[in-house]
Amino acid sequence: MSFIDSHCHINFKELSENIGDVLEKMQQNGVLAALCVSVNLADFPQVLALACQYPNIYASVGVHPDYEDVDEPTVARLVELADHPKIIAIGETGLDYYRLTGDLEWQRERFRNHIRAAKQCGKPLIIHTRSASEDTLRIMQEEGARDIGGVMHCFTENWEVAKSSLDMGFYISFSGIVTFKNALQIKDVAKRVPMDRVLIETDSPYLAPVPYRGKLNQPAYVKHVAEEIALLRGIRVDEVGHETSANFARLFRI
Ligand SMILES: [Zn+2]
Ligand SMILES: [Zn+2]
Repeated sequence: MSFIDSHCHINFKELSENIGDVLEKMQQNGVLAALCVSVNLADFPQVLALACQYPNIYASVGVHPDYEDVDEPTVARLVELADHPKIIAIGETGLDYYRLTGDLEWQRERFRNHIRAAKQCGKPLIIHTRSASEDTLRIMQEEGARDIGGVMHCFTENWEVAKSSLDMGFYISFSGIVTFKNALQIKDVAKRVPMDRVLIETDSPYLAPVPYRGKLNQPAYVKHVAEEIALLRGIRVDEVGHETSANFARLFRI
C-alpha cells in the first residue's frame, strides 16, 4: 500500500527538529512522498532546502493569507523563486476571513498575484479558503485560474463550492478533518468528488486525524485520511492510495 501526502509543513519546528523520525515513519507507513508547502518568503529557503536534501520531498512557493505584514511577493518574485525542478506548485495562497478581519483587500491582491504567477510559470495552485468561498471562487474566475488548475486544499466547504472548483478543473484535497465524527458535510463531499480528482493530505503539524486527534500530526498519518475515504466510498484503502497518488503525479507533473 502506498500514499502521498499532498500538503504538509514539515519545515515547521515541531517536525523539522525530528526530520529523521518523520521520514522514517513515512516509509514505515507506505507514504512515498510529501509536498512541503511554503507559507511565507522568510521560511522559503528552509522549505527548498528540505526538498533539495530528500528525493521524496517536494516543495511549493507562496505566502499564506494568514501572514500579514510580511515580505510581500510580486508576481515576478514568485515566478523567479518557482524556477527550480523541486518546486512543483504555487501556494499556499487564497483567502481566510476567519482568522483575520477588517479590510482584507491586501489578501485578495496577494491571491491575484499568486494566480498570475502560477499562470506565468506553468505550475498549479494550492488554494486555501476559509470563511471566504464566495470571494475565492470569484477571484479564481476573474483571474482565469482554470487555465492553470490546482488543488483546493484541506477542503471544508459544501458540495456547491466543490462543484464550482471541479468545474474549473481543480482537485479537492481532504485532510484529517474528514475523519472527525461531526464533519458530516465534508464526509458527504468526500463521497461525491470523482475519484480522479481526489487528493489526500495531513496539513501537518496541525489537524491530526482520528485516532491521533489533538496530537502532533505528521505525513505518515495521511494513511488514516485514506482509510476514512475508503470507508465512505466503500472501496479498498489501497485503491484510494493508488488513485490519489496517480492524481498527485498528474496534477504536479512528477
Ligand atoms: Zn491552508
Ligand atoms: Zn497548509
